[in-house]
Amino acid sequence: MSRAEDRRLGMHAAITRRDFLNGFALAIGAGVGALPLRALGKELEPEQRYGYYPPALTGLRGSHPGSFDVAHALAREGRVWTEPVEQTDDVYDLVVVGGGLSGLAAAHMFRKRAGRHARILILDNHDDFGGHAKRNELSSGLRTVLGHGGSQTLETPSTYSAGSKALLAELGVDLKRFYQAFDMKLYASHGLGQGVYFDRDTYGIDKLVAGAPVNPWIAEILASSQTEGPLAEFVAALPLSETGRADILRVHETRVDYFPGLSSEEKIDRLRHMSYDRYLTEHVGVGAEAVDFFHTRPRELWGVGTDAVSALECMGLDLPGFDGLGLTDPDEYDFSEEPYIHHFPDGNASVARLLVRNLIPRVAPGHTMDDIVTARFDYARLDEPDAPVRMRLNSTAVRVRQTNRDVVDVTYVRRDLAYRVRARGCVLACWHMIIPFLCPELPPAQQEALRYGTKVPLVYTNTLIRSWQPFVDLGVSIVECPGAYHSTVMLDFPVSLGGYRCARDPSEPIVLHMVRTPCKPGLPARDQHRYGHQELYVTPFETFEREIRKQLAGMLGTAGFEPARDILGITVNRWPHGYAYEYNPLWDEDWAPGASPCERARVPFGRIVMANADAGASAYVNVAIDQAHRAVGELLSVM
Ligand SMILES: Cc1cc2nc3c(=O)[nH]c(=O)nc-3n(C[C@H](O)[C@H](O)[C@H](O)COP(=O)(O)OP(=O)(O)OC[C@H]3O[C@@H](n4cnc5c(N)ncnc54)[C@H](O)[C@@H]3O)c2cc1C
Repeated sequence: MSRAEDRRLGMHAAITRRDFLNGFALAIGAGVGALPLRALGKELEPEQRYGYYPPALTGLRGSHPGSFDVAHALAREGRVWTEPVEQTDDVYDLVVVGGGLSGLAAAHMFRKRAGRHARILILDNHDDFGGHAKRNELSSGLRTVLGHGGSQTLETPSTYSAGSKALLAELGVDLKRFYQAFDMKLYASHGLGQGVYFDRDTYGIDKLVAGAPVNPWIAEILASSQTEGPLAEFVAALPLSETGRADILRVHETRVDYFPGLSSEEKIDRLRHMSYDRYLTEHVGVGAEAVDFFHTRPRELWGVGTDAVSALECMGLDLPGFDGLGLTDPDEYDFSEEPYIHHFPDGNASVARLLVRNLIPRVAPGHTMDDIVTARFDYARLDEPDAPVRMRLNSTAVRVRQTNRDVVDVTYVRRDLAYRVRARGCVLACWHMIIPFLCPELPPAQQEALRYGTKVPLVYTNTLIRSWQPFVDLGVSIVECPGAYHSTVMLDFPVSLGGYRCARDPSEPIVLHMVRTPCKPGLPARDQHRYGHQELYVTPFETFEREIRKQLAGMLGTAGFEPARDILGITVNRWPHGYAYEYNPLWDEDWAPGASPCERARVPFGRIVMANADAGASAYVNVAIDQAHRAVGELLSVM
């Protein structure tokens, strides 16, 4: 990339930039309080420093620099920290390892049953709480714009367990409220629909084609009726060969039964055990261009493309080509039951914030699901000695051991020093693959089960742009990008709640939600995830920034979008260890009930119990909560 090209893209333009000091987030210019105190010899804890407010940090977030060094030293290099002789703090009733939704829910449920005076400590290795449910704040200069850094939406909450529903109700979440807060008509009222962007590097030309056939799954995500042009016109505009275009049209229009003579059940079984790529090439009979066109569709859910996801799953995601199979009840495999609107302006970070405010009321004002959206959190108050519940960020557990019948010792590392706390019980709400390193006493078969799931890597990039007029001019609100760096680009969800208003007018700044799923098509799914982990760890922010600018310039340039002028801020939420691994019939066994790895992994070990969404092998908020519920019940039954 030449310097002139970098200048055109605005690589050196002034967007909100922050910096890191000693691995801890510190806003430039806001750190003035810290330095004089250091000079006086009074070392403040990072969270106590003036300006410590992680949601407002931009640049590389998610698993941010500094968050994983200790865990990697433990797991990859076998580093051992000598357990300190002195115990830190008085004995806790409960120590929770992992401050994500599962750990926070576990603390909430434990306190509910053990009483308001129960002493609880929550440890997390990140500089912010919430685990995957993180909040991003970006500044347009005039106002703060919110975005979700990870966990997006409460999906089909009517199907949640009684325990998950009760927790949300206890936090004051009224699900009906989202029907007013989410403006289902906004984008449709501007005539916006779906589009596909073909990038120059992959297709030899930058071209955005609007009027894509409505993908019901995406329409559901946008929770709005979508504008769609005639299929033939859309396909005719694709910058592909004649054969490629004819193939794509055929996949959409086919009414052929490719499995004549098989019963519905047999067909479903066939679809479950073959990839969509194979279905398209071997049965529908299309070529590589059409296969590539559909490739990225399941990536946002599975982290891998149509080469590694079953045809049945793709049918459930509304990919075309199945209409002629005559399946007796295809709707049984349809995911859409309830509009996808249960979304706070910062996604499920608000659920984490509600939990934290409920556990430690002094950290933030207010008491409703509306006022949580703009409530300012005082991170200095998360870990105060006189509070019954405390949260210690920037602290990685490295050893968890039941030392006698009644107590568990937890050693954690903070700023490269080891500390030991003692508790009457411990919930491990952290990622399962680290647990064998924390508890080497666990039976080998359980350790193996804990290591089975390979978490799914993905990136949620939030890019703040000056206005969304270019999207209006081009007639799109969501764009699939089969060859580009980010495979989806969409206008943020139009949600106004509490004192927060979404960008209703196209002239206003808005966050673009962009998704990248690093993987290596052709490999088995878990190997693709491992490849993606590695890619994310070695990719610097500069690479993301350049790719974002290039992609938006290519996609929106015809509508006058200039990245150097129109991009106001970028937060790349990288999640090398993202979704909990879900079993995939193409690659995993069909285990008998009780025999799957997650069920074997979550067996309690004395007073050490296992929560986290990993324990349910399913990447959903309600699973994280349900696993906390089970783990807390198991712990209390032996305390
Ligand atoms: C990008 C993304 C989008 C998602 N979108 C949705 C959605 O729209 N709807 C939905 O229902 N679900 C969604 N999910 C899934 C859902 O968010 C998760 O299931 C849920 O948040 C997981 O919570 P958890 O507490 O189990 O795990 P996590 O959120 O991963 O929390 C575990 C915490 O433990 C910490 N930890 C690990 N090891 C240690 C250690 N040794 N010491 C201290 N701390 C440690 C981790 O760093 C992490 O902070 C999404 C997930 C991701 C990644």
